[in-house]
Amino acid sequence: MLAVDYHLHSTHSKDGRSTVAEMCEAALASGLREICFTEHIDFDRQDPDYGFLDWPAYAASVAEARSRFAGRLVIRLGLEFDFRRQYGGEPGEVLARMPCDFLIGSVHSAAGCHIYRLHGREGPLDVRALQAEYLAEVEALVASGWAAAVGHFDYLYKQLPALVAPYRDGWYWPRAEQILARCVAAGVALEVNTHHVLDRGLALAADAEILRRYRALGGRRVTVGSDAHRAGQVAEGFQAAEQAVRDAGFPAVTGYEQGRPYDIPLAT
Ligand SMILES: [Zn+2]
Ligand SMILES: [Zn+2]
Repeated sequence: MLAVDYHLHSTHSKDGRSTVAEMCEAALASGLREICFTEHIDFDRQDPDYGFLDWPAYAASVAEARSRFAGRLVIRLGLEFDFRRQYGGEPGEVLARMPCDFLIGSVHSAAGCHIYRLHGREGPLDVRALQAEYLAEVEALVASGWAAAVGHFDYLYKQLPALVAPYRDGWYWPRAEQILARCVAAGVALEVNTHHVLDRGLALAADAEILRRYRALGGRRVTVGSDAHRAGQVAEGFQAAEQAVRDAGFPAVTGYEQGRPYDIPLAT
């Protein structure tokens, strides 16, 4: 099984329910050898979670965990930053003051809507317009140069797979491939995110088809993360992730130390 989880939230994120130490214990119990914490950092001042991250306290917690679990678990320090074009250059300025091993850039909203809030919303959705806006945000994220990996691509499909599947059509694929090609050119990884794949029926993102096309375009870097917000979710859904990574022809997943990528071969 995959022995690395590169997307974990602890109580240093507003919606995290388990401490850094509890997440590390859960990782060891799941047979993992390497993990990366990726706490949320948001730039929307209207969001009640804005300003929640206490960077010095977070970095100190991870440093403490590294000594406590030394020799048993490799622990990386990372962030998941929310990206929207409307933030302008602010994320880059803030992130430059937070030296990390690994940075996930994630688009969570399109056309002013939080995508996860679209579940069960009254009235028809203009899926194509949302898709176009989402993809334009991801394109700008890749162009920003701030992210080592694009988180959960494509998030609209991940959240609403049944609704969005018919829109993965002759319009969608060329546009998605443009963005995947930009990732390849910039050395940006795709993340395979397994959050709520087992319990809520959300889609794997990136799913096998996205991974296959990224690989065919020359993509070589893929990270895997459970996006766990509590200890019981660490490495959840990793069988599906490993299958998708293998099916797309990747011999390894990618780890990061101080921003530098390295291969972690899949067990044969
Ligand atoms: Zn996210
Ligand atoms: Zn996350």
